Amino acid sequence: MNHDFFNIISRKEFELLLRTFQATELTQIPIADAFGLVLGNDIVSPEDLPPVNRSCMDGYAVNASDAFGASETNPAYLECCAKLSVDEAPSFTLKSGECASIPTGGTLPDGSDAVVMVEHTQELGSGTIEIRKSSVPGEHTMLKGEDAAKGSVIFKAGHRIRFQDVGLLAALGIKEVTIRKKPRVGIISTGDELVEIDFPQKAGTIRDVNSHTLRCLVSSAGAEAVNYGIVHDELPKLELTLTKAISENDLVLLSGGSSVGMRDLTVQAIESMPESEILAHGVAISPGKPTILGKAGNKPVLGLPGQVTSVQVVMLSLVMPFIRHLMGQKNAFSTSDRPVIQAELEQNTVSKPGREDYVRMKLTSREEGIPLASPVYGKSGLLKTMIQADGLMIIPADTEGFYAGNIVNVWLI
Ligand code: AMP
Ligand code: MG
Repeated sequence: MNHDFFNIISRKEFELLLRTFQATELTQIPIADAFGLVLGNDIVSPEDLPPVNRSCMDGYAVNASDAFGASETNPAYLECCAKLSVDEAPSFTLKSGECASIPTGGTLPDGSDAVVMVEHTQELGSGTIEIRKSSVPGEHTMLKGEDAAKGSVIFKAGHRIRFQDVGLLAALGIKEVTIRKKPRVGIISTGDELVEIDFPQKAGTIRDVNSHTLRCLVSSAGAEAVNYGIVHDELPKLELTLTKAISENDLVLLSGGSSVGMRDLTVQAIESMPESEILAHGVAISPGKPTILGKAGNKPVLGLPGQVTSVQVVMLSLVMPFIRHLMGQKNAFSTSDRPVIQAELEQNTVSKPGREDYVRMKLTSREEGIPLASPVYGKSGLLKTMIQADGLMIIPADTEGFYAGNIVNVWLI
């Protein structure tokens, strides 16, 4: 590949190259640490959950046929044969004409198949219970195996573990799960003009923004960010830091120096690594064109634009899905699970054909109907377009734009 100029490929082609990288290794971890990580194998339920039929209400366990047709004006009368507590395993079988007092979560005795809520009953003394509501089998009960049936697959490999999933694992007594290791992502900011956050503002210096925003986005994708600070545009220094970052991480992100100018050294730095290759230089998205994908051995290295907004857009559209792919998440590049809101476009919005545009959008809610979406224009070197934006509107590469009044999808960020 000739690196003196871009060899622009589509976002889809870039994505296909990203997909060629392998997910991280498998490891076992306690479920307390599993939140947000991705399962490395299917999880099969070791038992039925609930293990028995349980009551969902305080009331009386009955055989539904004994209460069928009961009403306020035509109650049924059953004999209460037991007062069950929540931690009791009943050892008797309910006979026809009997009921048993049961709390929420209590185990249904054999012979019962429904619960009548206490509100629809009246204790008449001497053990007789008036049932004032008809019942059907299964009513107000949780059936054995209803949450998880023994032997069934409850989560598939590639599933990202959510808080509610941790709850199910705990309920099933599963203490550890096999997941893909959390990727470590090295972050390097490059540029002679860059200074640390506590440096005073003056001409010729720019405070490093990207390592901070990248760190947030890397952790929000579920990976661990490792910061390598600022490196000036000097090849030997950049090579040194890149070598260290590659050896210590699963993925390295460099920002700045990804274009084709004199001081743009990212391509050269990647090429100087052993067993390295530049797989792509330039992607047809805006902002974000000067993006590089390289590899050193089997480790991916991404050269991202220095412009503060461009790099944020590239992170959202390509790098965060890539991190999820490295974590083993199924359909990591799918756009269908993005939080999207429909809005009415306020003004005509044009885009150059041949590139996918990520227009920053402000949403205004209205008394009636869907929100109004207005583009936030500004240079990609300014922070304000992303600051003012509630979301992004994607104009596909084969589209020249959208008209005022069009209903558009805004990807909430
Ligand atoms: P470059 O891609 O290196 O030509 O950088 C493009 C623009 O982004 C320049 O104005 C840089 O000063 C700016 N820039 C590069 N890296 C950063 C960074 N880490 N934080 C803030 N601005 C940056
Ligand atoms: Mg630079």
